[in-house]
Amino acid sequence: MHECFADEIAIDFPSVGHVVDRMRDAFLGEPADAGLLTREVSLSSREALDGRVVPVEVPIRTACATCGGRGETWTERCPSCRGSGDALVCHTLRVTVPPGVAHGACFRFRVTSPHASAVRVEVRVVVRSSAA
Ligand SMILES: [Zn+2]
Repeated sequence: MHECFADEIAIDFPSVGHVVDRMRDAFLGEPADAGLLTREVSLSSREALDGRVVPVEVPIRTACATCGGRGETWTERCPSCRGSGDALVCHTLRVTVPPGVAHGACFRFRVTSPHASAVRVEVRVVVRSSAA
């Protein structure tokens, strides 16, 4: 049985996050339905029993600061966003995992910001075997 928790998280921009190019590439490499981001958090059985706050990184699309979202400067493609006009700001959310969480539990929430469309995030909990 999988539990699901839904929540909505509003992010105030500008955030303290920073743009990470590798994140952009990974993000654009996802299938077209990239509106849903899936993240996995791995907990030991002890951590699952106690509950935890886990950081989850979510790339939020925003307008490129260099070209203002136009994708070009006067004569050339904008080098910062490679012409896309988009920039991704990596935002770290703190997701509260309640005590006694079960393996396979998932948390779904929607991340909203004033300058980007909402991003749906699903976090799945993996509880590692305590055999070690
Ligand atoms: Zn740009």
